Amino acid sequence: MHYIGRFAPSPSGPLHFGSLIAATASYLCAKSANGKWLLRIEDVDQFRIKKNSINSIINTLESYGYQWDDDILYQSQRSEAYQDALDSLGKLSYPCTCTRKFLQKQVPTGTYGYIYPNFCREQISNPDAPQFAMRLRTNNTSIHVDDYLQDALCQDIEAEVGDFIIKRSDKMFSYQLAVVVDDEHQNVTDVVRGSDLLDNTPRQIYLQQCLRYQQSSYLHFPTAITPDGKKLSKQNHSPEVDAQQKRLTILRTLNFLGQEAPSIDQFSTLEDIWNWAIKNWDRDKIPAQMTLPENYPNHDTT
Ligand code: GLU
Ligand code: ZN
Repeated sequence: MHYIGRFAPSPSGPLHFGSLIAATASYLCAKSANGKWLLRIEDVDQFRIKKNSINSIINTLESYGYQWDDDILYQSQRSEAYQDALDSLGKLSYPCTCTRKFLQKQVPTGTYGYIYPNFCREQISNPDAPQFAMRLRTNNTSIHVDDYLQDALCQDIEAEVGDFIIKRSDKMFSYQLAVVVDDEHQNVTDVVRGSDLLDNTPRQIYLQQCLRYQQSSYLHFPTAITPDGKKLSKQNHSPEVDAQQKRLTILRTLNFLGQEAPSIDQFSTLEDIWNWAIKNWDRDKIPAQMTLPENYPNHDTT
């Protein structure tokens, strides 16, 4: 099948170095396979959108020379498709009136956050509540993620997560539902993203099964962790990014991904770097785990 990959940033701020690693990894997996690379703006949670970050993300990607195929898909315009998917789940989904506050007090916490004990599954806990969320009924089959890089992950969603939310009580669709519906809509064959999202994958595979969608292939590259256990993120200062610095940043994403790129003086333009990278990309070189050295440059990309 023709390879279709995607990059799906959430516009909760400008892209940082960690997001560029995700862009580079997904871009090169797609381009080196002669496939398509799609851009999807994950603005499903309208409360988390930071002003101007959508423009900033698109401009950054453009200025670093990433070239996406087809039109950009915006999750904020996809509510109807998400609602159709939810409707098609029929009795597999059910309303839940449990509030976050109530759950925080009442329920056990497991490896993946609180475990919902399916309170409203048979009978809604508070029929007079003004709002309700929608949850997906789970079962005790364990879902297996066969990842290209990471150790196999098996999750018994019912026992380890519980019935999970697919539409929130504020009427926003959940990340899990939106990603699965959009990956199917865009015919995405391969999901390449950071291993901080690996825990979500069994829920997404389960949703794909419930909706009778194709299952994607997965590659979760290591999320950059500094020796003190912090994730890479945006820094507050915003240095001028000149052309040389852009080349350097892309080379850093390549080296983070184990690609052993030649040094910057071997390339006179960004385009040269991308040509080299597409030709020489080898996903087998990506390390499964990664700790960054002390003082790793973590600069802004805007
Ligand atoms: N929007 C998610 C994020 O920015 C990524 C979703 C995905 O790649 O599945 O973390
Ligand atoms: Zn409930």
